[in-house]
Amino acid sequence: MRAWLGFVVLFCALGAPALGLTVEEVPRPPKGSWTVDLTSTRVLQPSVQAELEQMGTELDDRGLGQLMVVMLDTTSSRPSREFALALFNRWGIGHPGRDDGVLLFVAYADRKVEIILGDGVDEPADQEASDAVMAQAIVPGFKRNDPNAAVQLGARGLRELIENSRLNHPNDAAPESVASNAFVDSLSAEEVQAPPPQVTWIPPEETSTEPGLGVFAGGAGMLGAAGLAGRAWLRRRPRKCKACGTQRLRLGEVEDDAHLEAGQRAEESLGSVDYDVWWCEPCADVLIERYGALFTFVARCTKCNYVTGKQSTRTLRSATYDHGGEEEVTVRCGHCAFVSVSRRSTPRRTRPSSSSSSSSSRSSSGGGRSSGGGSSGSW
Ligand SMILES: [Zn+2]
Ligand SMILES: [Zn+2]
Repeated sequence: MRAWLGFVVLFCALGAPALGLTVEEVPRPPKGSWTVDLTSTRVLQPSVQAELEQMGTELDDRGLGQLMVVMLDTTSSRPSREFALALFNRWGIGHPGRDDGVLLFVAYADRKVEIILGDGVDEPADQEASDAVMAQAIVPGFKRNDPNAAVQLGARGLRELIENSRLNHPNDAAPESVASNAFVDSLSAEEVQAPPPQVTWIPPEETSTEPGLGVFAGGAGMLGAAGLAGRAWLRRRPRKCKACGTQRLRLGEVEDDAHLEAGQRAEESLGSVDYDVWWCEPCADVLIERYGALFTFVARCTKCNYVTGKQSTRTLRSATYDHGGEEEVTVRCGHCAFVSVSRRSTPRRTRPSSSSSSSSSRSSSGGGRSSGGGSSGSW
């Protein structure tokens, strides 16, 4: 008897956590809950979990979409992308008809992470934002061995993706997307100095070259990864001084501060823009190149014009099934301290269809579908 008990204890202590769950075995969270952490060490901190819950509830209440975070140890022999997509569709994340669900899925012991986009939020701009969140927020966080920051920043990025998706801006000719704005910034940046076009902020070692990506992202992810690597190369390619022909030297992050204006330094510290300073020793001349982050939470300040505005939103009137809502957007400039407050309307909520297995109006399993758009990462 004792030996048998010992075996059970040993099995539970050593065997069980290593065993992966099947998709069917992952317990669906109760309605109105948006986080599942099944890792054996309970990786997610309560404060991060609370933020994820608040984010998910707010997005759902505003009728914009559903954002779910699932962490487990391993998907065993099943590829993590396939597992995550099957889980997404089994739970039906997102509202039926709108298909506005997004799943951030982490197989922690496998060192794999997947973003699954619902069919309503997988347009090229959404896909680009998803790749950027993966490459700039999630993978670097895990590589730093800071899984909580990886998940927290990743979820914030995916919230932005949902908020800025064209699905939620049907009347805008050009969708007000943070990602594309920042991207345009980098295109028009410092034209005088003629930097290479389409340059982004990603260092080459952080670009995703996950081999399976193209298959699931319909090729877009693969092209995106190749494009990002190409841009990173363009950014670091040698520069010659036009005046004297000497090879310029790229200054480090500390040295270059002396050549930047206060507003530019504020942009760098907020991560919205990165500047490269190329020094010519004989001429004592600097060439400054500006790289807007492909993905940023920071807005352009309407007063000083730097990308240093920290945004926060407050719901004034919640959207219902009958009418849209209204929210107040406060932008506080981290450089000139200017505060602007504006209001914007939020779309009416979409009633979940009764064909769903759950008849609740506030269900985590709304019936949204995904065909597999999104991004893959590993660390
Ligand atoms: Zn020179
Ligand atoms: Zn300002």
